[in-house]
Formats: sequence, structure tokens, C-alpha cells
Amino acid sequence: MNKTIPHLITIIILILIQNLYAKHPIENNNLKNITLQLQWKHQFQFAGYYIAKEKGYYKDIGLDVNIKEYTYNKDIVQDVLNKKAHYAVGRSSLVINKAKGDKITLLAAIFQSSADVLIALKNSNISSLKDLKNKRIMITGNAQNDLIYLSMLFSNNLSIEDLIIQKHSFDIEDLVNKNTDLMASYISNEPYRLKKEYGLDSIVFAPKDYGFDFYGDILFTHEDRIKSNTNEVMKFKKASLKGWKYAFANIEETINLIQEKYNTQNKSKEALQYEAIELQKLAYYNTKELGLLDVNKIERIYDAYKLMGIAKEQIDFKSFIFDDTQMNSMFTKKEKAFLKRKKILRLCIDPNWMPFEMFTDDGKYIGLSSEYFKLFSEQLKIPIKAIRTNNWSETLDFMKKRKCDILSLAMETPNRKQYMDFTSVYMQMPLVLATKLNVTFVDNFKQLKNKKIGIVKDYAYAELIKNKFPYINIVEAKNTKDGLTKVVNEEIFAFIGAVADISYFTQKDFIGEVKISGKFKENLNLSIAVRNDETILLSIFNKLIRNLEDDFKNKITNKYMAIKYDPKVNHSLLWKSSLIFVIIILITFYWTYTIRKEKQKAELLLIKLEFARNQLKEKNKELKHIARTDKLTELYNRVKLDDALIKELSRANRYNHSLGIILIDIDNFKQVNDTYGHLVGDMVLIDLAKILKEYTRDIDIAGRWGGEEFMIICPETNIKGTNKLAHLLKDKIESFDFPEARNITASFGISQFRIKDTPDDLILKADEALYKAKSAGRNCVRGYTN
Ligand code: GH3
Ligand code: MG
Ligand code: MG
Repeated sequence: MNKTIPHLITIIILILIQNLYAKHPIENNNLKNITLQLQWKHQFQFAGYYIAKEKGYYKDIGLDVNIKEYTYNKDIVQDVLNKKAHYAVGRSSLVINKAKGDKITLLAAIFQSSADVLIALKNSNISSLKDLKNKRIMITGNAQNDLIYLSMLFSNNLSIEDLIIQKHSFDIEDLVNKNTDLMASYISNEPYRLKKEYGLDSIVFAPKDYGFDFYGDILFTHEDRIKSNTNEVMKFKKASLKGWKYAFANIEETINLIQEKYNTQNKSKEALQYEAIELQKLAYYNTKELGLLDVNKIERIYDAYKLMGIAKEQIDFKSFIFDDTQMNSMFTKKEKAFLKRKKILRLCIDPNWMPFEMFTDDGKYIGLSSEYFKLFSEQLKIPIKAIRTNNWSETLDFMKKRKCDILSLAMETPNRKQYMDFTSVYMQMPLVLATKLNVTFVDNFKQLKNKKIGIVKDYAYAELIKNKFPYINIVEAKNTKDGLTKVVNEEIFAFIGAVADISYFTQKDFIGEVKISGKFKENLNLSIAVRNDETILLSIFNKLIRNLEDDFKNKITNKYMAIKYDPKVNHSLLWKSSLIFVIIILITFYWTYTIRKEKQKAELLLIKLEFARNQLKEKNKELKHIARTDKLTELYNRVKLDDALIKELSRANRYNHSLGIILIDIDNFKQVNDTYGHLVGDMVLIDLAKILKEYTRDIDIAGRWGGEEFMIICPETNIKGTNKLAHLLKDKIESFDFPEARNITASFGISQFRIKDTPDDLILKADEALYKAKSAGRNCVRGYTN
């Protein structure tokens, strides 16, 4: 029994270590296992991810992605924070989590507008938001989910007292049976089901039609993942979006896949088709770019939350959104040019230092460091050739004579600094003492006084040990194996080496003959050394090291330093202690579960209170302002422009007034961004908006149509007047001295209202005119003639 206890401790430690690695398990086929947590049950809402998996987009980037559907009461953000899920799909309310300090980063917004809508039955007496007074409304009770609905209602002068709030039953029959009047739903599901299953038409209130165009599903991850696995995150995002693109382009095929492998909800083909079409609209709503995440829009969403009193803290919005552009240029132009000229890098290694590195008899470079340099070579896009030497001393000599450019693993010493530069440390290893079995544990190094201790010749830590323990009698060994042989033959008392290589040779050649019987405080700190007459190599390799991902390092360590343990131990005791462990975990789970439920209840209460308190007219006005204003330029936004167009058109129709619109597109704006950066681009947009505001008349409605396009609606204006205004604006923009960027111009397309024109007709005409202006060489005004 006495003996089993140390064994038990060892096993527990080993299990802990293996658990540590289990987070990054290594797959048979070398794929990395990662988890993507969905925020709902399997359906077309997540089609892009299924496709990316099915088509091998994930596999191509070395990932095996486990796509997990939502289970009741799951806290998705918590799972990401606890690193139970590597990636997840969440809602716009993630900005609140961020404000609370949760370490999350957004990667891509799959749906540019949320699928969340309120629906009512058509045959009920509800036809507009005004009819909602004293109606029963089913919402989830989760403040963050409900905000989008409530913002819409409150900005239209309804108050919390006007509504009878019910807890959501998630049962559509409650609407059918008139147990409620209004239900929070998905545009892509419930309207279809009502029609199909009950033959009922519905009426839909979509927040985006009232200016609250929050993002729908957002792909996100832990901040740490960005830091430790930048490359993976970048590739994962890319592969996922590729999957989405394919899914929308091949809806039939995608639906077949869902029905075959993911149909936990038993959805019919038609239901999935309906969902696909609705979601496609949301994914490409106001953009051609899939996954677009606009910091301005995120800010606007956050403002809405703030206004409702749900969030208060400041957010660093820029760092909240993953910026994958920086990665494309890991190396500077100069570094790239250097590598191109160099064509090949010559690498020196220790020829006999397993598991770190060695040459096989037929001259093959193997071992832990070989994996690193294989990766580096791929990233540098030039070959790295290992140059053969006979021993470590010769390796150093080759570096001195510049026969090699780089040295795989070396410790920095003053002496070596004379001919090499050292990168940051990329591998650390404890130094240990190996002796014969009969030696008791060495805990005080004074015990080594006057004893013969072996160290491999020219290894850096010889210096370190000599300085620290001058009383030790150092004997040089050729390599680790030679050193351990000397221990066995009692030529020396002990041998000092890194834990990895001593374990490696002990297991291989000296089992039952030597053991580790002491550990130094000092570590072996290993860097890459580069010749110091080509200093650019240092920055290149420092970047490569900085860019190494934890998963990669763990994988390599696991592969070369596998832990084996003795199976002849008393397992029953282990199970007993495990059971206690499991019980503790269960108790903790139960505890957090109840707390979460209570929290949700409290939240519903809080939100009610908060909203009641916020029922001031002021807030409604502000909400209205947010809903109609473009955050960046403070001009009207597209929702308002659409709205105004309808109104002005019907007015022009009725009173036979004239009406013109001007569509403005900044010339070569992409170039502005590329030359001066996105921030300067934003400032140009702000300045240009100011010009539009200043030189349009009070009755004109100036707004941001999208991106770098603007629209001016000119009521009661004839073609001459519209033309004149456009020319004035063109000249003002052309002559304006934009402080950060030079020579900004814009092109103008104008169109004039004719009886029976719809808003779309009018816009289309202006668009064609604008196209003509661009074709005519930009910086000019064109009208629609026909
Ligand atoms: P053209 O003269 O043909 O209009 O050329 P262009 O470069 O302006 O054309 P394009 O429409 O292809 O490019 C528009 C660019 O505007 C692309 C996009 O990156 C940029 N853009 C859109 N919205 C914003 C924004 O809010 N801020 C910044 N800085 N850039 C934006
Ligand atoms: Mg454009
Ligand atoms: Mg443009």
C-alpha cells in the first residue's frame, strides 16, 4: 500500500499532464481537433460550416471541426471563455459581453441583418406597430435577446406599460390558439410553419425596417486564440466563409447534405428551402461581401444597448474585431527581398542530440527541431538545408566560419554573441542530473563537491554550471549517450543534461541503469542563433517564432516527449479518488446551473424595471435618432433615405411636384484606403459629408447610401435645379483641401421623377447616370437621358 501512494501521485500528475494536452489532441491523420459551438439546432442557419467540413475546406487547413448544436440552457459565451469551444456563433449582444470584460473577438458577421422578427397572425387585428397597445407579446426574457424588439417598439412611441409581456413558450401553437398576440421568431422559420402547418398568414415586424439592423449570427472566438493561433483563426474564418459562399450558391446540394447528416429537427426540404432563401437575403443585405463586419455598425448596436441602460462601459471597438489584413504582410518588403536573393538558408544542428535533433546514418535530419524548420521553410517559401557536422564543436565552428546561416537550437552566451545573434527563446527545458540508481536524491548541490560531473563539450550550460558551482569537477563528454555511458561505468558520478535528452537516452539505452536524481533551478533556454553579419535574419526568425502557435508546439512536444507510465499499479484506489473528484464536479455543475436560471429570471425583472425607467420621451427621440442616423457621418442612413423616398414620391405624385435625386460615389476611394489607411478613409467620408450638409438646402435630404456612396433627395426641384446642385457639390468637393488625403473627387448621377416612377425606378435611373459619369472619366455629373 505504501508503495502505491507515490505511484498514485505519479499517475494523477500524468493524467493532469495528459489532460493539458487533451485540449489540443493530436489526430491520427494529423488533423487538429477543434470545436465550433452553434447557437441553435442544426438547420440552414449554419449551412456554411457543414459545407466547409463536407467539402474538406477545414481539412485542407489541418482542422477536424466538431460542429456542436445548441442544447437547452447552454451558455455559449461561457463555453468559449472556458475554452470548451474554440469557436462559436453568437448574436449582436456579444458587444455587451465585451463591455462586461469578456475576452472575446468577433471574426465575421454571417447575417448582415438579424433574422429576429416579431410575428402576429394576419387575421388578428394587428396591422401596424400602433396596434400593439395592450397586446400580449412573447419574448425570451433574456435582456440581450429582447433588446432588438424592444428598441423597435420603443422608438415608435410604445412603452413597456403598453405591452403585456409573456415568457416565451417556444411553441408556435400559442400563437395559433391565440394564447398570445405577438411572438419573437425567426423570419426564416415561423412564417413558413404557420402557413404550411396551419394554413395561416402572418404579419412580420422586422427591426431592420425600423432602423435597428443588428447583425445576425456572428462567428467569434476567445481573445487568447487570436494571440496563440493567429494563423489558424485566419484560415478558419476563410474556410468558413468559403463554405458559406458555396452553400448559398448551391442551395439544393446543401439541403441534401443537411437532410442526410444534420437533420435533428426533421425539417422538410421545403422548410429548408424557405429558410435558405430568407437567410441568403440577410447574408447579402446591403453588401456583396459575405461576412462583413463594420466597426461603425457594431458601435451603433452598442449605442442602442447603452441607451437602454444595459451597457455602460467603454469598448475598444477596433480590437474587438479581428483584423486579418495585418497577417498578409508578416515580412517587410526588405525582408522579402533578402529572402529572394538568398534563395536557400543553410542550417547547422547538433548532429547527435535526440530527441531535439540528429542526423541519421544516411544523413537525414530528424528530431524535434526538424519539425520547426520544416514549418519555417514553408512560411519563408525558400528551402532550409541542414548542413552535416560530426559533433557540436564542429557545428559551432561552422557557424563561426559562416558555413551556416542559422543554428537550430542554442543558448545565448557572451562568447557566442561575438559571431551570432540570438532570437527570443522558443524552447525551455529544465536541467537535470543523471546518476546511477543507487544514488539518493541530490537536493543540495554541495553534495557534488569534488565529484566528477559530465557535461557535453562546448554546451553553453557548462559555463553556467562552472560559474555557479565552482567546486564541481567538470568532465567533458562527446554527447549525451557518451556521458551516460561514463556514469554507468562509474567514470563520473553524474551527468548534467536537459530533461528531454536524458529521458530519451535513459529509455532507449540505459533502462534500469541510470535515473534522474536532481534538478537545477536553471533552465536550458534555447533560441535560434543567426550569423551576426546578416542582421536581417534576426528579425525574420524572431517573427517566425512569435508566429508559432501553441497547438503546434504542443503537438511537437507530445510527439517527441511521449509519456509512458507503468500499468502495474493499484487502479482501484485511483477510481476511488476519481469518484470523489467527479462528485465535486457534479456539485459545481448543479450549482452554476441553478445560478444561471436565477440570473435569467432576475434579468427579465431588471429589464422591465430598466425599460420602465427609461420611458422618457427623450430616450424615444434618441432611439429614433440612432435608427435613422449614419454613425460615422451623422448624415441620414439608408433606412431613412428609403423611407423619405417613399414619402416624397407619393407627395410628388399627389401634388404633381417635381423631385430629383442625386447619387454620389467617391472616385477611386479604394486607393485612398490603400494609400492612407482605413482611418483616413473614414475621415474623408466625414469631411465629405460635411460638405454635403453645408451646401444642400434645408428641404434636401442628404444621407449615406452605403460605403462611399451618398444620396441627396431634392423635393420640389426641377431638372435644372438638381443639376445645379450636383455641379455645385462636385466643385466644392474637388476644391476642398482634405487634410489627410489629396485630390478627392466624386462622380454624380442624377435622375428626375416622372409620374408613376417607383422609388426603385428612380434609383435605377440615377445609378445608370452615375455609371455614365464614371465611364466618362469620373469627377463629373451625368443625368439619365431617355
Ligand atoms: P470608383 O471610382 O470606380 O468608384 O472606384 P472606388 O475605388 O471608389 O470603387 P469601389 O466601389 O470598388 O470601392 C469602394 C471602397 O470604399 C471599397 C471599400 O473598402 C471602401 N469603403 C466602403 N465603406 C467604407 C468606410 O466606411 N470607410 C472606409 N474607410 N472605406 C470604406
Ligand atoms: Mg462604390
Ligand atoms: Mg467609388
